[in-house]
Formats: sequence, structure tokens, C-alpha cells
Amino acid sequence: MARKLKGIAAARGVAIAPIVHFHTTLDHIPTWKVTAEGVDAERARLSGAIATVAKNLTDLQRELAGSLGKHDVRIYDAQLSILHDATFRRDVEAEVGQQQVNLEVALQRVIARYEGVFAAMENPAMRERAADLRDIGRQLVGALLASERQKYTADGIDYLFAADEFLPSDAGILDRAHIRGIVTAHGGKYSHGAILARSLGIPAVVGIEQIMLESATGGMAIVDGDAGLVVLDPSPEELAEYEQRLREQRAVDRRIAEVRFQPSVTPDGTHVHLFANAEGVRDLEALEVDAIAGIGLFRTEFAFMERRQFPSENEQVAMYRRAMEGAKGKPVTFRTLDVGGDKPLGYFRMPEERNPVLGWRGIRLCLDWPDILYTQMRAILRASALGHARILIPMVSARSEVVRCREVLQQLTTDLKATGVPFDPNIELGVMVEVPVLVHVLPDVLPVADFVSVGTNDLVQYLLAVDRDNQRVAKMYDPFHPGVLRVLKQIADAADTAGKSASICGEIAGDHWFTPILVGLGYTELSMAPVFLPRVKLMLRSFTKAECRQLAARAVAMQSTREVRRLVQEEIQPRWVRQLGSNEEARR
Ligand code: PEP
Ligand code: MG
Repeated sequence: MARKLKGIAAARGVAIAPIVHFHTTLDHIPTWKVTAEGVDAERARLSGAIATVAKNLTDLQRELAGSLGKHDVRIYDAQLSILHDATFRRDVEAEVGQQQVNLEVALQRVIARYEGVFAAMENPAMRERAADLRDIGRQLVGALLASERQKYTADGIDYLFAADEFLPSDAGILDRAHIRGIVTAHGGKYSHGAILARSLGIPAVVGIEQIMLESATGGMAIVDGDAGLVVLDPSPEELAEYEQRLREQRAVDRRIAEVRFQPSVTPDGTHVHLFANAEGVRDLEALEVDAIAGIGLFRTEFAFMERRQFPSENEQVAMYRRAMEGAKGKPVTFRTLDVGGDKPLGYFRMPEERNPVLGWRGIRLCLDWPDILYTQMRAILRASALGHARILIPMVSARSEVVRCREVLQQLTTDLKATGVPFDPNIELGVMVEVPVLVHVLPDVLPVADFVSVGTNDLVQYLLAVDRDNQRVAKMYDPFHPGVLRVLKQIADAADTAGKSASICGEIAGDHWFTPILVGLGYTELSMAPVFLPRVKLMLRSFTKAECRQLAARAVAMQSTREVRRLVQEEIQPRWVRQLGSNEEARR
């Protein structure tokens, strides 16, 4: 029987395909009953998984041997000894046989039991073993899932990706030709996983906590990224209805795509420059450069996150050069490494933090480890000789941080000049506005910055005190809050007074329902995932600057988010529906 699960609409569109489970934690794993005849098969699965994880660990240990300290090398030894421990194996097999549960559940239970014992020990080294044990369990479950999904992904069948989260590193391993939709247990509309799904143009629903428990690899499902709904085992009627929606969606997308090479200008002649966000060089390969003004945000950290160790300066230069070549002389805005918070770097040990989003992240981390910043800025400078590169600093909260970045830049340019290495001496240094207090000190910061770019994803999270990754409070994360709009106006006004350019590179820049309001607030540079470009451009071409100003003035003066949403529904939506001649669009 069909089951409908409600989550958060993260990326528009509909997808119909079998679900395939990717990674999960030990907390969300599927359960099924194993009969006496099935026990041997589970044993064989355990042997296979142990062999796979042992191989991965020894490969990794060998690969990192030169760059790891003694303590880190021992972590792998400790994990390998758990993996080959005869008692551990016996206990897992006994759990399968006696409790008649699948291997994943047996692993979950045995590890929980062992963990309880280790956690209660006085010795901190023994408590650390508990973490290793859990990690081994996660890797074993990962290996089991991988062998299950091989049956689907190896044959090039279309599938729906299901996992606890959609991680930046997943984007690198996915078969883009066959992934149709994404559904995750965690996350919100503005999580990095959701941002990635949207930029890949893959329909996605996030925040369905029970998805890994309720679904199984191979089960048919529908992802409705417009309504935030997943239908498991759909009926023939539901399938027919969604297939019809899929056809309509494709027809509308084709119509909207027609505008992408037309000028991005309002009917009364105001030019708005539309830039692309890129998560990696891969994104530039598929980019229609003629349709954009440049790259407004290159999230360099994703390339760092997909790797197993820091890329060297030369590797970074190669990557940034490829990005510059891809942009064909148009500006490329390289954001310096923005890890920490919700973007951990596996090979860089970060302390456990109670509030990582308020913790050691972005430029704070890079200024504490200046080697990272020096290497990256030097690489960007070397690549800048090829065209028009810009540097953007994330998570700035004080003028002094910008001044320190300027000093680094100054020192690097002096060194490069002295050694005759070519670079662009006029490279611009920009500041991301994500930390609310920065808005209040912009008049002090702007004289030391060449431009600002508003990272609304974080700015809204901090303004509203709502975690962008937490599905429980996702409803409260609403950038249409009049307070948010007033802050956006304050930033645009401050930049205008200082004669510096201000752009928006957070997700609202690519949300066409926002476009007239943002233009009305004074923004003439918007940077978004390329998939949004046609919609934003079409919207832009539908409202005069005067109308945009009026809409923004009304929105800013409103007293509730609901009122602003009503304004969008009554004043912006009808014109959009008329433009497209499709009511289907109103819900997206
Ligand atoms: C933002 O915060 O709006 C932003 C663009 O950065 P990220 O989404 O990568 O945190
Ligand atoms: Mg951010």
C-alpha cells in the first residue's frame, strides 16, 4: 500500500524511480526478519563487509602514512583490531542467529552494548575506543549498503538517492546520468545538501526522519520536490498522476529556458547582472557562459571536502585556472575556504563544539591557521594572471579580520612580484555579509573592502536564530521575514553610500519569487545556481524598476512574514502565471 511521508520541499520537480539507500548512521537503518535458513547468508555478508572495510582502512593508512602523526596512524590500527576481533564477530553472528534480525540491526545492537561498556570506563583512552567502535559500525553498515546498491547503480538504472544527509562529497560519486531524485532524513531547505540538489537540478525532499527505516533499496517511490512529499510504493493512479505532472513540468521548463540568452534587464531598462554560483570546476564544464555575467561565488571548500588531504598550492592553482578558463574572461569570485560549522573537513581535526555554527569556521579558522590562507590566496593570485579573479572572505565579523586578510594579500603580492610570478595586481578583495553585527559596522568595513556579497543562507540563520540544518525549526527559517528585508535594505544602502558594489549570493538570489523585491531594495547583482537563471531572468523582465521599488517599500514596511508572502501571492504570482500561461507554476 502506498505511504506518504511529509518532509521539506528542498528542490523543485517530480521524480519517479526505485529508492537506493546510500550512507546512513547507525541510528537509522532498515530492519527485517531473518529466518534460520537466512543466517548463513547474513554471515557471508558480514565477511564481505569486514573484508571491504579492512581494505579501505589499510589503503587509507598507506595513502596517508607520510602526512599523519603517530597518534593518527594508531587510530587505524585500533580500528583494524576491532574489525578482526573474534569476540566482536561472534557476538554479531549470535545476535543475528538468536534474535533473527538482519546484520545491520545486529551490528547496531552489539555496538550499542560495547559502547555502553567503554563509555562507563574511567580511562579516557578506553572512552576513545567507543568512538572508534562506532566508526567501525558506521563503515560496516556503509559497506553493506554499498553492496546492495551496486545491484542498481551498476546497471545504469535511474534511481532515487536516499540517505541520512546529502553531503557535498556525494556529489562527486553520484552517477549524474541516473540520479533522478533525492530524499534525506535530515536537513533543511538551506542546508548545503539542499543547495547542492537544487544546483544539480535534482528534485529533493529533506527532513523525513524515518525515511531510512520506512523504505528499502529497490522499492518504487515518488519524490515531489514541490510539495515536499515522498510517496512510497505508489498506486497505479498516483503513478499516472505524477507522470502527467512530469510531462507538464518538462514543457514549462522548455518555455522558461528560452529566455536564458535574452538581456537581463527590467522593462524600463535597469540592468541586473546575473552571476552563477559554482561548487566546483565540474559545474563550469556544463555552464552556458554566454548567459551569465561571471561566477559570483565559487565555493572552494567543496573541492577540499571531496579529497582525503589538503590540496597543495600547485593543485589549487590548476583548479582555479580551470575555473578561470571555464569562465572565459568573465569574473570568477573565489571564496576562501569556508569549512567548519556544518562543513567538516575529514582530514583536519577540529575540536568537538557544542555550537559549531557559532564556532570555529570560515575566516576565523583560516586566520588561526594562516598557512591554509596563505597557500590558497597565493594559488588564487597565481591563477589570476589568466583573467579576472576576485577573492571573497566568508564569515567576517569585524573590520580587523578584513585588514588582516589585506595584509596577507599584500605580503603575497610583494613576494610574487619579487620572484617574477605573474598575477593580477588589481585583484579585488570582497567580504561576505553573513554575521549580523557586520551590517552595523559596514561603514567602517567598506573602506577596506572592494565589494560585499550577502550570504543570506547564514545571515538569515543568525538573524532569526534558526539553524538552517534543523528540520524541526525549518518552518521558522523564512527569509521573507520583514526584519530580514530591512537588514538587506540597510546593506544595499550602506554599499551605495560607500560607492561599493553589493551582490547577493545566498539561495534567495535564485528564488524568482524574491527577484522583484531584491531589485527594489537596490540589488543589481545576483548570484545563483545556474538552474535558476532562466526563472529569475524571466521575472526580472516582467517588473519595471519602479514597480520593484514599490513592492520592496511595501514589503519592508510590513509587520509579518505572512503579510509579505501574501504580497508575493497577490502582486507577483499572478503576473508570473500569466507570463507562462500555466497555473502549475504557481505552486513552485
Ligand atoms: C550563505 O551563507 O548564504 C552562503 C552563500 O554561503 P554557504 O551557503 O556556503 O554557507
Ligand atoms: Mg555561508
